[in-house]
Amino acid sequence: MRIGNLENSIWFREIGRGLVELLFPPSERCPVCFQENRFHNGLGKNCLAKISWIMPPVCVKCGRPLRLEAAEKEICGQCSETRYYFSKVRSVAVYEGALREYLTELKYRYRPDLASALGILLVEWVKDHHEFQKLDFIIPIPIHRQKLMVRGYNQAELLANPLQNYLGIPIKNDIIMRDRITLSQNALHKEERFSNVSQAFRVVNAKPLAGAKVLLVDDIFTTGATVSEAARVLIRAGAFEVKVLTLAGGIFDPEWFIF
Ligand SMILES: [Zn+2]
Ligand SMILES: [Zn+2]
Repeated sequence: MRIGNLENSIWFREIGRGLVELLFPPSERCPVCFQENRFHNGLGKNCLAKISWIMPPVCVKCGRPLRLEAAEKEICGQCSETRYYFSKVRSVAVYEGALREYLTELKYRYRPDLASALGILLVEWVKDHHEFQKLDFIIPIPIHRQKLMVRGYNQAELLANPLQNYLGIPIKNDIIMRDRITLSQNALHKEERFSNVSQAFRVVNAKPLAGAKVLLVDDIFTTGATVSEAARVLIRAGAFEVKVLTLAGGIFDPEWFIF
């Protein structure tokens, strides 16, 4: 390459970088309250303080916080009448307020930078929960390739990155694929959500699954339809157990405790 060409390519690279920074400036403010009190990686201190962390007593199956009068049963009504394929789900905090805003920014407003700070919240939770530490590998819930093209990343995978480092187990993205574009679960009733995701996932590499204990990671847990369907295909393909960890959990049954 001639020197002139080299200079040109450096010049173009610098322009490219300048353009990217112009389009996506590194955020100095919390994207939710716009205050400048940055905590780490863009999460605001005030907003973090307002997140409703889920505390026991929780349903042993779905991890939703139980009202004290329901806590004796250990398992909530939803879980006793639904067949789930995961062994348990735990969510770190309630899907509302600042956390809901952060996840909206991450998913729909091109803020992949928020994922590492949010992922550290998963690590902090796992430090206190030993039953989530002895697993073989992490599978972030995959998104369909068309969504991946539009969004530019799989938010579940970005959230799982800090967890992979802390737990010292790999993220495996080559095991299941999302085959069908599913409707957004938000607009659907519970029964519709389960039929909406049936056959949504396909195992493309079953070998590592034989006898494996899998940690599925996702951003939000609502009815459990999506993660249960993923767990079903993983177990049918040979996994021994599937545990699920999500950052946010939706609280919409009167039996569950709302903070
Ligand atoms: Zn804030
Ligand atoms: Zn439950």
